Amino acid sequence: MSDVDAFRAEVRAWLDAHVPRDLRGATLADADDPARLAALRAWNAALADAGYAGLAWPAEYGGRAASVEEQVVLAEELSRAEAPPSLNPIGLSNIAPAIMTYGTDAQRARHLRRMLRADDIWCQGFSEPDAGSDLASLRTSAVLDGDHFVVNGQKVWTTLGHVADWCELLVRTHPSAPKHKGISALLVDMTLPGIEVQPLVTITGDREFNALFFTDVRVPVECLLGPVNEGWRVAVTTLANERAGVANLHLSHGKKLARVLAAASANGAASDAVDRQRLASAVTDHRLLELLAGRAVSRAAAGQPPGPEGSLAKLVWSLAGQDLAETAGAVLGEEGLAGAWGRDALYSRSLTIAGGTTEVNKNLLAERILGLPRDVAPPS
Ligand SMILES: Cc1cc2nc3c(=O)[nH]c(=O)nc-3n(C[C@H](O)[C@H](O)[C@H](O)COP(=O)(O)OP(=O)(O)OC[C@H]3O[C@@H](n4cnc5c(N)ncnc54)[C@H](O)[C@@H]3O)c2cc1C
Repeated sequence: MSDVDAFRAEVRAWLDAHVPRDLRGATLADADDPARLAALRAWNAALADAGYAGLAWPAEYGGRAASVEEQVVLAEELSRAEAPPSLNPIGLSNIAPAIMTYGTDAQRARHLRRMLRADDIWCQGFSEPDAGSDLASLRTSAVLDGDHFVVNGQKVWTTLGHVADWCELLVRTHPSAPKHKGISALLVDMTLPGIEVQPLVTITGDREFNALFFTDVRVPVECLLGPVNEGWRVAVTTLANERAGVANLHLSHGKKLARVLAAASANGAASDAVDRQRLASAVTDHRLLELLAGRAVSRAAAGQPPGPEGSLAKLVWSLAGQDLAETAGAVLGEEGLAGAWGRDALYSRSLTIAGGTTEVNKNLLAERILGLPRDVAPPS
């Protein structure tokens, strides 16, 4: 048995013995219920204590420095076992790499292990009402006053903000500098006085993201992440890792596809010519996603940094997710519009916005892969 096969057997046995039955198939929306949140925190801690969280992280931060193949195996086995989600999807994939790259020793020691166990839940306070795709236009201000930054402003769409203990917050520290040069990143304790969190209810009826309001919030200077006014570099590291986390996207998509195919076979839809076309197209999309994931994995295995392919995979995955939800509605009739399928159809609308919109991704692909001229920036 190869090392990777042995690792798969070990992980599978552990998950079969430890995934709590009542949390199988749980989603992040469950974090809204305090009892479910406590159970999810306990699950996250158990997974980390067993050495199955932050697999790629260096051992000094609680990881295993595992190979890319082992990371893929873990993702596949977590999906197979219907394991509950990480409470730190943004923390582990986006914020931790930024802390590893730019953090002080004290920041790494304070935050990384606690994030791994979900002792602390993290949110990403980047977007503002007038700064989404054009993130560098952000206006939330931080003014140095002795050994504190005083923060004022508003963030929006902050996923998990209502349960978060900490926030990676982008603020403007140099108002007269060119807009990319006057930004800093702060690690903000969400219990500080002056922070108000207003949950936003989505079309699915869930509370998943929030508006955050900051009024004279005093953040200690030792919470600055990276050099002052160099926060754009920190943000780019954070977002590059978000777009690089594409290798697993096909797993959840493949599960939904299998359920649609099984239901379509059972209800006779699979013999209708138009439905068959839609289903064949969904299968093709899934295969394309698998191949894109394979490419991202090969790059990582060869020691190469994440490339613009992450934008391509995100684009294909988000459009395929919306198509699959619509296909389910078309071939499953009422069943495809109710319950979990109905929720999925509504939720899928957000896929082409979150983590970079379709239009912005197409611009990135045009410039970085096709080598076309840069997008014309609107006059500021
Ligand atoms: C489910 C979900 C979770 C999110 N979680 C977080 C989070 O945790 N933290 C956080 O900070 N943010 C989060 N966001 C916000 C997300 O990053 C922004 O919604 C996204 O960056 C788009 O910004 P915007 O909504 O302000 O739209 P805008 O940037 O105002 O865009 C409006 C429209 O204009 C188009 N557009 C904009 N610029 C261009 C251009 N140059 N060329 C062509 N078209 C353009 C866009 O594609 C879009 O269709 C989340 C969003 C969603 C949907």
